[in-house]
Order: sequence, then C-alpha cells, then structure tokens
Amino acid sequence: MSHSLSGQLILPGGAVQSGTIHFSEVIEGVTPDADASAGSCFIVPGFIDTHVHGGGGGDTMDGAPGLARLCRLHAQHGTTTVLPTTMTGPWEQVMQALEAVAAMRRSGGVSGGADIAGAHLEGPFISPQRLGAQPPNTLEPTPQLVAEVLGTGVLRAVTLAPEQPGATQAGLAFARAGLRVGIGHTVADAETVTEFVRAVQQAGGRTAATHLFNAMGGVQGREPGPPGVLLADPQSFLEVILDFVHVHPTSFQLACRAGPGRTLLITDAMRAAGEGDGLSELGGQTVIVRNGEAHLENGSLAGSVLTMDRAVQNALKAGLTLPEASRMASLIPAQSIGLSDRGELRVGLRADVVVLDAEYRVLAVYVAGQQVVGQPVSGRGIS
Ligand SMILES: [Zn+2]
Repeated sequence: MSHSLSGQLILPGGAVQSGTIHFSEVIEGVTPDADASAGSCFIVPGFIDTHVHGGGGGDTMDGAPGLARLCRLHAQHGTTTVLPTTMTGPWEQVMQALEAVAAMRRSGGVSGGADIAGAHLEGPFISPQRLGAQPPNTLEPTPQLVAEVLGTGVLRAVTLAPEQPGATQAGLAFARAGLRVGIGHTVADAETVTEFVRAVQQAGGRTAATHLFNAMGGVQGREPGPPGVLLADPQSFLEVILDFVHVHPTSFQLACRAGPGRTLLITDAMRAAGEGDGLSELGGQTVIVRNGEAHLENGSLAGSVLTMDRAVQNALKAGLTLPEASRMASLIPAQSIGLSDRGELRVGLRADVVVLDAEYRVLAVYVAGQQVVGQPVSGRGIS
C-alpha cells in the first residue's frame, strides 16, 4: 500500500519545507510544495532508541512477550527502531534474553511495533562499584564470554567499564564485530578511558558514552573523568536520557555544544514506561514510580519512564530547533549503530515516518510504510 502525507517536512540537512512525502515500504518521493494548505503538522523521520529496557509492562529480560510490549508501547510514541537492552542479570538470563531478541528478529519482528535492529548488551561487563540500578551480577569480559554473546549474532551495541580486566581486548572484539562500544557504569580515570577509546577507534570501531553523565562520575579540572574525555573526543557518540530527571538541561546543552553531530537521545526506559505511577520492577528489584520519576527502594534513581516523543519535546524546551532535535532522535542514533537505511526523509530509505501536531504530539506513525498509529489516511488527509 502506498501513502502520501503533506505537511511541514523536516528534510535532510535540516530544512523545514512544506511539501508531500510519498512512500510504500520505502520512501518514493519527497516533493516540496509551495501550497500553503499543506498545514501545520510536522513530518519527521521515525525515532531510533538505542537504549531501551522496556515499556508498556514488558522488559527485554522477559523474552518474547516483553519484547512485544516494549516495541508496541514505544511505537505509540514515535519510535520506529529499537535496540532492546539487557540488564546485568545472571549470565544464563542475559543469554536467554539475547536469544529471544534474535528469535524475534528471525520471525519478522513485532507487528504493530517498532523494528528491532539488534540488541544492546548493558552489562554484565560493568563496574560493581558503579551499578546504578543494575543488579550486582557483574562479570569480567573474558574472551569466552565475549565469544558467547557475539555468537548470538544479534548485538549492535554494548556497554562496558574500560577499567575491568580484559576490557580492552573485549572492546576490540566487539568493534571488529561492528558493534557500537559504549563506556558506562564505570569508575575509570581519564587516562584509562582515553587509552580505551583510542584502541577501539584505531581498530575502526565506534565509541559512545552510555547515558552520558549518569553512572560515570563528574568532570573536574584535574580529573576530567569519563564524561570529560568523551565530551572532548571528536568522534565518540553521546547518549543522553533527556527526561530532566537524569540530566539537567544545562548538562544537555553542554553535550550539544561539545558534540552537535554526536549527541543522541535515548530513553533508557523500563517496563513502567507508559504505565503511570505505581510499583514496578527492574532487574528483580522493586521500583516506585511517582510523578514520572522511578526510584529503587533504597532511593537510587532507577531507569526512566521516558518516551522518545517526550525526549524530543524536552530538547525543544532546552532551546533546540525541531530539525536539531529530530536529528538527535533519528539520524545520529542510526549513524551510531551503523544503520544507513533509515534516519532521514530521503528517497530510497525505509519509510519510518512520524507525523507530529503543532505541539509536537504524535499523530501518526509508520514503520517501513505500515501504519501503526493514527487514523488511516491517504492523499492530503493529514495536514
Ligand atoms: Zn545504565
């Protein structure tokens, strides 16, 4: 089935132009249109969330039913591609979760949900001293364990602590396998991070800060720490949980200024996302959600209940333009995980398309041309 939508198109390069987009499974035409009747809604590329544990009551660690809930809930909020993200569970549970993501991909994914482009392994190769909300099941990244997770064939991103014994060798193996190598949940000093980043990049790998500023200490004059190194490095991607709970708007602006082409929005959402206030669960721990903030019983900040549409709205509140925010929600995440078939409204790319109203709320969502949100429309129906 082919579709045509008219509105204010956010085009590659950042231009905002009224016009019409034609697509089936892929984008077939992007036509500028001087006709002012194109309307006030915005048409943007679908959001890509490279760090999301759960949502809609489901979690990556649940296997297939959790993945279905996650993909459907986040599609309702404009996310068209996800990397379901594992928790630092016992090793067998991590492997089972990765096998479930691989099986879901083989079976064609989740109908009515975001596309699963692979998995993000967050832990167990992290620091036991900087767990954040991760349960204490950390492991050192031995060659055998690294080979086991790579054997699932489903990983696109990994988070590890570079000070862990074996981390550099593991980082190189992950880079050679094409993964984005994230630094996070770490107590490393600046020298350790610098050497690790250099080694991975020299092997042709892409490096990233996993939820920049969270679970990695701070920036100080004599000790810039992981965030200082990763902000200063011209190539590392910078994940930001832009819920204004994990990250202050000024910290976000700092990331944007240091790396406007490297900063990307993530949710780090957990199963409670989209479920309202109340009790929930993360990695076997009780979570209390109140007023959009999620804490463990010991008071420490748990994952978020953020969705990508809200992250984009928050980026606008922090002073970005819609093209800038859109790029951080689509193109930059795609680049960070080596996906070149999506992330912009460009002829030939996957038709992952989101329609926003004048207040930037989601009106309609298409995943590879399949409508998953909104009233069926064609022609100039949406404008
Ligand atoms: Zn984390």
